[in-house]
Amino acid sequence: MVLSEQELSVVVARLAAEISADYHGRDLVVVGVLRGSVIFVADLIRRLTVPVRLDFVALSSYGDRVSSSGEVRLHKDLEESVEDRHLLIVEDIVDTGLTLRYLLTSMQTRGAASVKSCALLDKPSRREVDTRVDYVGKVVPDEFLVGYGLDYAQRYRNLPYVGVLRRELCES
Ligand code: 5GP
Repeated sequence: MVLSEQELSVVVARLAAEISADYHGRDLVVVGVLRGSVIFVADLIRRLTVPVRLDFVALSSYGDRVSSSGEVRLHKDLEESVEDRHLLIVEDIVDTGLTLRYLLTSMQTRGAASVKSCALLDKPSRREVDTRVDYVGKVVPDEFLVGYGLDYAQRYRNLPYVGVLRRELCES
């Protein structure tokens, strides 16, 4: 087990307190990265004490495999303009950093007032591009994780905890 239900709730509360303090007096646009961040975003925004707007993007990720394709494609764009707004990109996990770097660049070129990032999980040992993650829930080793939004071939997202997928299941 990487994060139990109880640990998740402590981590999310800590992140929400940090973010709420940092954005005190400002409105925030939370940009969730579909689909993996959905459960994390839902829990996180309910603990934020600043005014929040919620939007989503969808990008290509691992598909049904357990290693990255190295390619990022935008499948679903934001619904609202981000011009002059303070954005917080929320990811389930930062691995190579390619997705986050793509999003940070894309949001900055759209004239956002500020762009920061938050990830429930961070796998720094896998980083391929230098990407800043401003708020990290937990640093994790290089293992394939599922649960609390994270999938393997679209399964296990509904597990209430984050766990390591057993190798036999990846290969079956
Ligand atoms: P990056 O662009 O940083 O390499 O990849 C980010 C995306 O890869 C995440 O949003 C997630 O969808 C996927 N990913 C990376 N590591 C894992 C993992 O351990 N488990 C699962 N289920 N997805 C992962």
